[in-house]
Amino acid sequence: MELTSPSTVRELMDRYGLRFVKKFGQNFLTDANIVRKIADSADLSKDESVIEIGPGIGTLTRELSDRAGNVTSVEIDKKLIPVLEETLQDKENVKVLNKDVLKLLPEDFPDGPFKVVANLPYNITSPVIFFFLESDLDVKSLQFLIQKEVAERIVAEPGSKIYGALSVIAQYYADPEILFDVPAGVFMPRPKVDSSLIRLTKKIPDTSVDKGDYFKVVRAGFANRRKTLINSLASNLGVDKERIKDILIELGFDPRVRAENLSPDDFKELTRRLYA
Ligand code: SAM
Repeated sequence: MELTSPSTVRELMDRYGLRFVKKFGQNFLTDANIVRKIADSADLSKDESVIEIGPGIGTLTRELSDRAGNVTSVEIDKKLIPVLEETLQDKENVKVLNKDVLKLLPEDFPDGPFKVVANLPYNITSPVIFFFLESDLDVKSLQFLIQKEVAERIVAEPGSKIYGALSVIAQYYADPEILFDVPAGVFMPRPKVDSSLIRLTKKIPDTSVDKGDYFKVVRAGFANRRKTLINSLASNLGVDKERIKDILIELGFDPRVRAENLSPDDFKELTRRLYA
């Protein structure tokens, strides 16, 4: 079953009386080569489990099903469930869950390690990345088609204007790499911006700082970008300014430093000293 031609997408949507729902970021892929390239680059084998976020009408799901041992596809829009029952009826290794990915419970995930693959709805990119990196789930990698501008923020270097909490957390808990760009013209409806496929390969967990503390410090550091790091941390964490100043000096920083000048490892040292 070929789902990528624009006329097939339109025919399915019409037959089920559906419209593309903007709040769910519904931009479906209509290019068979791109869909295959995304599935291929997830580097799946038949003994692996995959979670797919937002199967839509099942286009990428079918390709993942051909390459993985089993696929759990999580779709929030209940109106798409009957469509998926039709388009995935021959795919016995696919399980569809009608849920919000950000509200999944531990029992919804496969036993053992798994990969996550998605053409992500643009409005939940950061929450999804934070959700999977903050959890203790056995995630091997996250591979997402996302807005090009967000992919560039994820891999940005310290000191750059676009370096922020998402870059720090993504680079501390994973090795992010942009695999290739995807033009807006291959989606239906066509979005305003280009996209990139990004892969975040999870690193071996660093247990030297508590994850919750690390996330808290990074978020607090970037909460007020125009403030110095001392002021931003003091107001968002309720920690004494003098104490933060002493720690920054100990770490070799000018006390007027801003969050964007600290590397992911600098944030680790800062967290360790604040919460040890
Ligand atoms: N995978 C399909 C494709 O590539 O053609 C559709 C991708 S579309 C960009 C995003 C999909 O995610 C939509 O089907 C949308 O309904 C679904 N979605 C949006 N928010 C979601 C959420 N919080 N949890 C699960 N699915 C969600």
